[in-house]
Amino acid sequence: MKKLSIRRRAAITLRGYGLLRRYCPGLLQNKALHELVRCTQPFLSIWFSARIIDELFSLKRAETAVAYAAGLILVNFICAVLKSTLERAGNEKQAQMWDWFRKIFSDKQMALDFVDLEDASIQRQRQQVEENLYMYGNGMSQLVWGIPSLICAGVTLFLSLIMALPLFLSKTGHAGMDHPLLSVGVLLCTALGGLCYSGAAFRENAVFMKWCAGNVWFNRAFAFFGGELCVSPERAKDVRIYAQSAVAEKSLDELIGAEKENQKAIFKMALYPALATAAIGLSNALGCLFVALKAFFGAFGAGSAVQYAAVLSRLGDGVRELMFLNADNAVYCLYLQEMFAYLDIPNRRYQGSLTTEKREDNDYAIEFRDLSFRYPGAPADALQRVSLKLRAGERLAVVGMNGSGKTTLIKLLCRLYDPSEGEILLNGVPIQKYEEEEYRSLFSVVFQDFCLFSFGLGQNVAASAQYDEERVRDCLRKAGFGERLSGMPQGTKGCLYKDFDESGVEISGGEAQKIALARALYKNAPFIILDEPTAALDPVSEYEVYSSFNEIAGGKTAVYISHRLASCRFCDRIAVFHEGKLIQLGTHAQLLAEEGGKYRELWNAQARYYQ
Ligand code: ADP
Repeated sequence: MKKLSIRRRAAITLRGYGLLRRYCPGLLQNKALHELVRCTQPFLSIWFSARIIDELFSLKRAETAVAYAAGLILVNFICAVLKSTLERAGNEKQAQMWDWFRKIFSDKQMALDFVDLEDASIQRQRQQVEENLYMYGNGMSQLVWGIPSLICAGVTLFLSLIMALPLFLSKTGHAGMDHPLLSVGVLLCTALGGLCYSGAAFRENAVFMKWCAGNVWFNRAFAFFGGELCVSPERAKDVRIYAQSAVAEKSLDELIGAEKENQKAIFKMALYPALATAAIGLSNALGCLFVALKAFFGAFGAGSAVQYAAVLSRLGDGVRELMFLNADNAVYCLYLQEMFAYLDIPNRRYQGSLTTEKREDNDYAIEFRDLSFRYPGAPADALQRVSLKLRAGERLAVVGMNGSGKTTLIKLLCRLYDPSEGEILLNGVPIQKYEEEEYRSLFSVVFQDFCLFSFGLGQNVAASAQYDEERVRDCLRKAGFGERLSGMPQGTKGCLYKDFDESGVEISGGEAQKIALARALYKNAPFIILDEPTAALDPVSEYEVYSSFNEIAGGKTAVYISHRLASCRFCDRIAVFHEGKLIQLGTHAQLLAEEGGKYRELWNAQARYYQ
């Protein structure tokens, strides 16, 4: 990664803080306030302690010393209460912080164009940024820790300079000691300590980043061999049958062997700050010597000497903190920049604003006009010049061999992709012109790889937290899940799967499919599309599911997709797809009668399944 200019870093840092304010409200204010109190407290203590020593040993005023002591106790008490209250409130926010960081990703993933979700380079970019989250907090966690550090450095520098000022102004009457160059020298010494630290921090960070880059592969491989491969229930069967745990163990041993190489980097990372801390110690010692000599020559009393020695070392701490912040910022801005590049991936699709007509009679007509589509990066079109009209209330079958473009047609209809050429019209208007979410609400689709969620059964069917209990039950009954539902002790409240609830219900593939069908019914959209959710069933069962679903679909427009022709023979019209083209369209009887037609050929080839 290349270095960033100060201006660029400032812009990135400010944008990062904007994001933090949006996703973790109150966290920054809390951290800032807590640090303000935490950093001011030692200065108050130093000041009060110095006054007490002066009162006791120089001015010999016991009563005033007692008053200062009382002040010291009171100030420390107030600071302690404030700190602890702020810490409590802050801990809670901080515990949620990583979840909010992850939310930044999920929000972006949800907002990405569907086509980008399949774009390997974009998904690699996302993976990289997500991995950075665990390596370097993506810069976001550093921003959070940076706030206290910045406040601490600011307060420490400001207060220590103010409190150290009399040290440099005080006179001993000794020309050598009072020479302004000596004061400048002491200040330079302190700054030099800080600069040493800055150099060390930059070097340490360079080693750290190299180490991080090397660790990405290690973490990825470790997460897979050390966790996912052995833990995931989906892989458990194959892992056991093919004895993959031995492979995992061997790979882990190799990884851990390679990891030892990292020891050198860790040593270097420890060495640089240690050397810088030694340099700072030296500059502190020189500062103390200066204070001691001034006190020795009578410039001030013991109390003030204690104060100056303490604040000079604090001044060094402040400079060091500021240098550290600068070096740290140079690194985390690179990570933030990478994250922003991902967050800035634009939505390229046209977003229409037309509202769709709300029609009780479901009189919506769809037309595919000269439609072609090629997946990004694919060598050939998945659909070629398809023209087809879908009439309201019609039952259309889309059949063809695997890979002939059936699912692609439905994905385009649902506007998951935009056509490469041609258009799709809803009631004569190109679908891009409609407001996307509203347009999508017209379709109930059950895809082959449909997905149910680990929520309550009712919530799954309604696809919402709130639902109409009776309607949910009715849809489940219609979809053939009635008997199973009556055997579920918690009814529609019962959770699916065990992710969130130990008493969650494990369901079979067939049951899941019935729930998915019930979900499609519950949505009550004017178009219903079944895209081979029955692929795992045998041909006869698929036909039964399709034809019985057809009866309950009522007057809706329905599209049934299958590579098995017999499953859809009840439909009004059948569209036959082959290699991305619509090659035949007609009723079952018409298509079967077409000599040399693909439908007839496929039908005859598949006929043995139904005899
Ligand atoms: P069907 O539903 O008829 O089985 P699809 O519409 O799924 O066929 O696929 C049509 C063609 O597009 C196939 O050649 C398939 O490999 C390709 N294809 C499908 N999905 C993608 C994708 N996400 N990226 C690239 N090519 C794809």
